[in-house]
Amino acid sequence: MRHEILRHSVAIDEQEVFCLIHKPVALPEIQPSHFVGRVASWAEYAERRYGDSINPVMTYVESGPHHVSWIHHEGDDWQSGEHFSTYHVICDCIAGLNGNSPQQSVQHVLGCNAVLHALQRRAVFVDHTYRTGEILAALRGPDTGDFEQKYTFHKSAVKTIGDLLELDARHPKEWPGNVISGEHRVSVLATLFQLHPEVVKWYGRLLEESGVIEDFDGEILRLSPESLAA
Ligand SMILES: [Zn+2]
Repeated sequence: MRHEILRHSVAIDEQEVFCLIHKPVALPEIQPSHFVGRVASWAEYAERRYGDSINPVMTYVESGPHHVSWIHHEGDDWQSGEHFSTYHVICDCIAGLNGNSPQQSVQHVLGCNAVLHALQRRAVFVDHTYRTGEILAALRGPDTGDFEQKYTFHKSAVKTIGDLLELDARHPKEWPGNVISGEHRVSVLATLFQLHPEVVKWYGRLLEESGVIEDFDGEILRLSPESLAA
C-alpha cells in the first residue's frame, strides 16, 4: 500500500516541472521515502496511539529547520470517532499537538514559514499546469489595480480557481497548493495568484453565486456536490 502511494508520488516529477519553467529557482528535493525528524515521531505516535494510517505523498526538504509533507491520512477522529480519509499538509512543528484530527493538525502548522514556502513551491506546479501567471499577465492592464482589471482577466482567474478545486477533488495526490484536500483558502490563493485577498474573496462570492462552491465564509472555498457530479 505504502509502496504504491510512493510510486505514484514519484511520477509527479518536480525536477522536470522546474526545468520547464523559464526561470529556474532552487530545486526542492523530493524525498520518496519515509518521514524524517519530528514528523516521523508524530506519524509513528498517531499510528500507534490512534491506529491512523499516514503515508507521505511528497516531502519538501528546505535548508530550514522544518520538513513539510503532503500526506494521506486515514483514521478515526480521537474525539468524535468520525472516520476520515484525507490529504493534508504537515510540518515538523506538528510535534506536541494532541489528537489526530486533520483539520486541527493543519490549523496547528498554518502559520509556519516552512509551510508557506512549500505552498509557494506548489504554486509553481499550479502555474505550470494552468499557466496562470502567464495568462493573467497577458490579460492584465498595466496601469490599473487588481479590482479594475478587465472582465476577461477576472473570468480567467475565477475559472482557474474552479479548475484547482476540481483537480484537488479528482486527484488530491497532485497537491494543487492547498493545505487540506476538499478546500482552498483565500489567503493561499491570493499568494498563489499574486492578487489582493479582497479580489479573491470577490471571486469566491462569484463562484458561490454560480453554484461552483458552497457555504463560502469569506476564507474557505469548497466545491459544491453539484459541480463535482458534473
Ligand atoms: Zn513548521
